[in-house]
Amino acid sequence: MTYNDSKFGEVIESGKILLVKNVMSASVLDPRRRLDYWKEATGVSNPVCAHEICNRPATHGGIAVRAFSRDRQKLVYPACETCVRRTEMLYVSGPFVELND
Ligand SMILES: [Zn+2]
Repeated sequence: MTYNDSKFGEVIESGKILLVKNVMSASVLDPRRRLDYWKEATGVSNPVCAHEICNRPATHGGIAVRAFSRDRQKLVYPACETCVRRTEMLYVSGPFVELND
């Protein structure tokens, strides 16, 4: 890791698709640094947006939680500028990096 940040946890749900909702209030790091962390943690250097119907290059680290779940764990995923701001529920493909803030 280029920088260690205890706010980030495990890489989870590789190869899976989760129904999630973006968390807009999250403040930890800026979205580009979140994406940098996701790249380091997963080893994927050129991610595309993880929203299943979007293939634009990822420029941001989105933060989401699972929809219809009591699990409030925040998850970082690669997102384009548009999808990082979407307010509806999204199908997003993993891997995700856990974020604890
Ligand atoms: Zn997108």
